[in-house]
Amino acid sequence: PLILGVESSCDETGFALVRGRELLANEVASSVERHARFGGVVPEVASRAHLEALVPTLERACESAGVELDDIDAIAVTAGPGLMGALVVGVSAAKALALALDKPLYGVNHLAAHVAVDLLDSGELPLPAVALLVSGGHTSLLKVDHLTDSITQLGETIDDAAGEAYDKVARLLGLGYPGGPIIDKLAADGDPKAIRFPRGLTARHDLEKHRFDFSFSGLKTAVARWVETAELEGREIPVADVCASFQEAVCDVLSAKAVDACREHGVSTLLLGGGVAANSRLRSLLAERCAEHGITLRRPRPGLCTDNGAMIAVLGAELVAAGRAESGLAFGAESGLPVSRVLV
Ligand code: ATP
Ligand code: MG
Ligand code: FE
Repeated sequence: PLILGVESSCDETGFALVRGRELLANEVASSVERHARFGGVVPEVASRAHLEALVPTLERACESAGVELDDIDAIAVTAGPGLMGALVVGVSAAKALALALDKPLYGVNHLAAHVAVDLLDSGELPLPAVALLVSGGHTSLLKVDHLTDSITQLGETIDDAAGEAYDKVARLLGLGYPGGPIIDKLAADGDPKAIRFPRGLTARHDLEKHRFDFSFSGLKTAVARWVETAELEGREIPVADVCASFQEAVCDVLSAKAVDACREHGVSTLLLGGGVAANSRLRSLLAERCAEHGITLRRPRPGLCTDNGAMIAVLGAELVAAGRAESGLAFGAESGLPVSRVLV
């Protein structure tokens, strides 16, 4: 069956077409530049951008796959989690299409889709697996026992997402937006041991309650304090060293907790997803620590790690293949949809 995937949970409008695990088209329109002067995604701006991008992006997807709307067998759309105003645009569009074309509609979980997208690049995912999803909007550790009906959350950030921390630190250093790629690049010329920044939720008393949770707002504050102090003392800011030391703190915690989760749950496959999966240090540190413990690391190509329609379409295809009942037209977007609900 030919499945259309629709994504609009944050600042990317995505339409994609898959047949089973074969990707036919994946068109993404990002409003990232429109948020640049605010240093982060502005929900109202994102919603409006989705509205403008819907039709042209859908048309591009059909054109590049060489299919007509009538050829589509089922539609999958992100029902949540995400920004409410942004989700509503994609869900409404998908409902209109399902109604007009008389096709089944599946409202799916965005986080589960970040996991499912790996099927397109690497085929069958060995289960159980642990997934580390790191982006501008989420930082979660998941245990995947079954892709379409058993995903549990082991932990998540209790404040800022990892990508958000990159964006905020880049902003306070006056480096631009989005901060992740910029800091990643500058860090290459810095010393990751120059400054010892705090590793959130790794102290013994924190581990009891927050074994697999993350916290990055204290780290961001520590960087801000360090920079302020240096400025007050009239010292020049060693930007590359600050970037490298900040990045080391983020990647050290992310990789340590991900590997611990695998070991504690007897899992030998770790999947990395989300926009921060592009980070060079995170990838090298994870590769090193996974190798040490006999864990296989899987990471989809960067274009599939960031938000896109292909991840939604492939999860839809898996749900159709599993014979799951469609969501119909009566569901609504849920900004806080838990990952335990793969299909609404
Ligand atoms: P969502 O949270 O719903 O997945 P998003 O738009 O916030 O949506 P993505 O588009 O997946 O997330 O990723 C964007 C985030 O990834 C930004 O915060 C950006 O700074 C970060 N990022 C991108 N490249 C890198 C990199 N090389 N190193 C670190 N962070 C990066
Ligand atoms: Mg984005
Ligand atoms: Fe996402």
